[in-house]
Amino acid sequence: MRDQASGGVSRRGLLHILLGVGAAGAGSACGVAADRLLGHPAPLAARPVATPPLPTPPEPTRTATPTPRAEPTVASEGLPPPRVRVWSSPAYRVRQLVPNAPANAIGLTIDDGPSSWTPEVLAVLARNATAANFCMVGVHVDAYPALARAVATAGHGLVNHSQDHRQPFNLLPAHTMLAEIRVAQRAIRTATGRTPRLFRAPGGDWSPLVLRATAAVGLLPLDWDVDPRDWARPGTSQIIRALLRVRPGDIVLCHDGGGDRSETVRALATVLPIWRERGLLPIHLDRPAVTRAVVTRPTTSPSPRRSVRPTASPSASPSASPTASPTPSGSAAG
Ligand SMILES: [Zn+2]
Repeated sequence: MRDQASGGVSRRGLLHILLGVGAAGAGSACGVAADRLLGHPAPLAARPVATPPLPTPPEPTRTATPTPRAEPTVASEGLPPPRVRVWSSPAYRVRQLVPNAPANAIGLTIDDGPSSWTPEVLAVLARNATAANFCMVGVHVDAYPALARAVATAGHGLVNHSQDHRQPFNLLPAHTMLAEIRVAQRAIRTATGRTPRLFRAPGGDWSPLVLRATAAVGLLPLDWDVDPRDWARPGTSQIIRALLRVRPGDIVLCHDGGGDRSETVRALATVLPIWRERGLLPIHLDRPAVTRAVVTRPTTSPSPRRSVRPTASPSASPSASPTASPTPSGSAAG
């Protein structure tokens, strides 16, 4: 689903001011349109210069409050009490969500599907035994339940990305935000049998109220810090260049929804083997701990597989100890 332009100030920039987020993946399908309209495209793959603090609970207050992490200046707008602590800013580094993740772990997120491009994305992930996290839009899950199931069956992480991808999400009334998250949660659960643990705001449109609504549904907020702007189809080589800037701990934004994703598929086909050679380990972000291998060995079939990089060899990833059976679908563990 194409993200909508909201006009005015870059919502992402505003978000970072409001939330004090140091992340800088300014602009994405999930939020770039405003930047484009303003004619000042955001830098690619910009990452925070300084590591911002992890979302730790605030200093205990002297007066007992029933709802920890309640933002004192933000009205709850009638939201139910949080089921998990309310984060002060969304996570955009792997260890914020998976504290025991290996040092070489990264998070690859795939947004706005499922769509007709999802099978191709799944195929390139399987060929490279790469774990990803699909941020699904509820209406697309309703439209393509079999594709949503295929993502789940392959073992990838599932993330709630709202029901309708309405933007600017942070300007919606609280009850609408809540419904968008809850309905998508049901849609994904119904289609896949799995219950998402993470929520990504459409367009990265975070606000204290969005963070409260996220917590009210019991979800954790997922952002990103590397954005190749693949949604805008800048050219495969440009997407590749951005993806090759990924460093350990990064959370990367790509898309399987929102239109022609052929550039994304080609870029991933080139980059995933290079990530592996560099020892980067894409992991599932929707599991609170790494308890077993998250990357399976590339599928081995008797016939030679189409190679995207003839020189690339599936060298062993340092931390990945493949355990899953090499099924033809190349399903990832989990
Ligand atoms: Zn999106």
